[in-house]
Amino acid sequence: MDARMGGCMCGAVRFRATLSHTAFGVCHCKMCQRWAGGMFAAITVPHADVVWSGQAQIARIQSSDWAQRGWCTTCGSGLFYQVTRESAQGGDWEIPVGLFDDANGLTLEREIYIDRKPDSYALAGHHQTLTEAEVIALYGSTSEGA
Ligand SMILES: [Zn+2]
Ligand SMILES: [Zn+2]
Repeated sequence: MDARMGGCMCGAVRFRATLSHTAFGVCHCKMCQRWAGGMFAAITVPHADVVWSGQAQIARIQSSDWAQRGWCTTCGSGLFYQVTRESAQGGDWEIPVGLFDDANGLTLEREIYIDRKPDSYALAGHHQTLTEAEVIALYGSTSEGA
């Protein structure tokens, strides 16, 4: 188990996440691009394994029928993507890798919505890539992405 601290830009929201695995994913869907200002690199952490402080500073938006996104109301940092619908991933946190005080030692496992990635950049290394159609075929429209 790998316990890591993290927080938003201004420090009003802090968290402690217990990572049972250190692989993370990148989503290139257009909603993530607009929300994060670029690709969304995040690690999945089970609901019970994140302890937040400064919760009064956390706002949420229902960004799709099945998920919410949260941010710090003081500084605007994006804090999480969370599937809210009943599913295997329901309640889990997708925590942006950049929030961790120390984000070293994590491993890029896969990129999703790869066909939505701008052609101006690419992530190096060997990892799984899934197109939008492949994501939908795998998970339906009720899980990751969007
Ligand atoms: Zn903040
Ligand atoms: Zn996305």
